[in-house]
Amino acid sequence: MEKPLRTLIAPRALEPERGSVDRSAFFKPKTFERTDGAGKSRKLLRLTEPRSARAKPIQIIGGGLAGLTLGIALRRAGVPTVIFEAGHYPRHRVCGEFISGGGLAVLQELGLKRKFLDAGAREAHSAVFVSEKSPSPVHRLPSSALCLSRWVMDKLLADEFQILGGDLRCGKRWRGDVAEGSVRANGRQLQPVENGWRWFGLKAHAKHVPLKADLEMHVFENGYVGLCRLAGEEVNICGLFRRNGERDLAQNRLDWLRGKPGTLLHEQLAGADIDENSFCSVAGLSLRPRRASQESELSIGDALTMIPPVTGNGMSLAFESAQMAAEPLAAYSHREISWSCARQTIARSCDDTFSRRLRWANWLQNLLFSPLVRMPFGKILFQSEAFWKMMFARTR
Ligand SMILES: Cc1cc2nc3c(=O)[nH]c(=O)nc-3n(C[C@H](O)[C@H](O)[C@H](O)COP(=O)(O)OP(=O)(O)OC[C@H]3O[C@@H](n4cnc5c(N)ncnc54)[C@H](O)[C@@H]3O)c2cc1C
Repeated sequence: MEKPLRTLIAPRALEPERGSVDRSAFFKPKTFERTDGAGKSRKLLRLTEPRSARAKPIQIIGGGLAGLTLGIALRRAGVPTVIFEAGHYPRHRVCGEFISGGGLAVLQELGLKRKFLDAGAREAHSAVFVSEKSPSPVHRLPSSALCLSRWVMDKLLADEFQILGGDLRCGKRWRGDVAEGSVRANGRQLQPVENGWRWFGLKAHAKHVPLKADLEMHVFENGYVGLCRLAGEEVNICGLFRRNGERDLAQNRLDWLRGKPGTLLHEQLAGADIDENSFCSVAGLSLRPRRASQESELSIGDALTMIPPVTGNGMSLAFESAQMAAEPLAAYSHREISWSCARQTIARSCDDTFSRRLRWANWLQNLLFSPLVRMPFGKILFQSEAFWKMMFARTR
């Protein structure tokens, strides 16, 4: 007799939620090719078969967005799940805090979008792009986005995971191998120098920042800074920058975020009341796209690949890769498929979904740092709604 998925989900997760879809849709019945060599006949397994009560545990290294989302989905499928997180919640992370793209559907399916809104997430509908001093007209975003502080978001997901019975071990930095039954979700792979440049990110929240649109993106020769509205009067100011060693990061962190005198960003931030406690930085970023099928370990989110932040799609990639990993891992846990089958299925899904998006994102990132953008042609491109609409679609 098939065990219905809903009996595997903790009762609290079954409460009806405004605007949410049927959560059982999150686990659509799928077939997996057996690759463990047990049967030469290459049988196909269906996940609608009865599930074993002796579920194998899954360990997740990293309790950021990818790890926590995967943990939540696995707990809903009755999988014993442990997350090892080096830090503690709540905490600030360097992030534009602008969620856009397929990740929003994942949040909706998991019943988390409503929780984000209840926690103060703001919808973003409009955007402006500024090249140093010249702003574009205000564009309507092709689809709305959600802006929520990582301070709130990560804590909310961590609480949700624990409510569902997940084992969250904070302050535990994983130093072992990532072997069978383990998933790497520990964020970016460290890359001190790429193409001669050191890439780093900075973030701070501030009050008294006038905005022309829900999202503003300011582009300079050696970086870009995104601004978006958060709950209350707060605005998130977050930038990606490159340097080649001649400037000291610690001394200039606010100078980097504010932009040079004479730029529109500098003017806008003149009266900003910066929340020093929210200030954070990250370095050693690698923006080169990676393919999951070329990795020996199972990785999701930034641990798999980082998409250039200008797309505002990194969090979405974390949510989506967690969703793609959940069903095969549940099948592995319930002894329905082998580890290598689960790993390969997840890698294929990630590559199929992300490869084209990553190529376009890489192209856009290179364009923004090329001198072309500061030439008349680049400026026209920058003002063009059609260009931004196309980029928005291609990077999602
Ligand atoms: C400047 C900048 C701006 C950005 N802006 C946006 C934006 O506006 N929109 C968007 O969608 N994305 C944006 N992103 C990208 C987004 O922040 C990431 O894609 C997202 O945080 C990835 O989530 P993750 O869970 O994979 O990694 P993380 O959020 O980095 O989480 C990894 C977790 O693993 C933990 N960890 C690390 N090592 C270990 C270990 N050994 N053991 C245990 N735990 C460990 C860390 O403490 C951390 O909690 C931006 C990124 C940058 C750099």
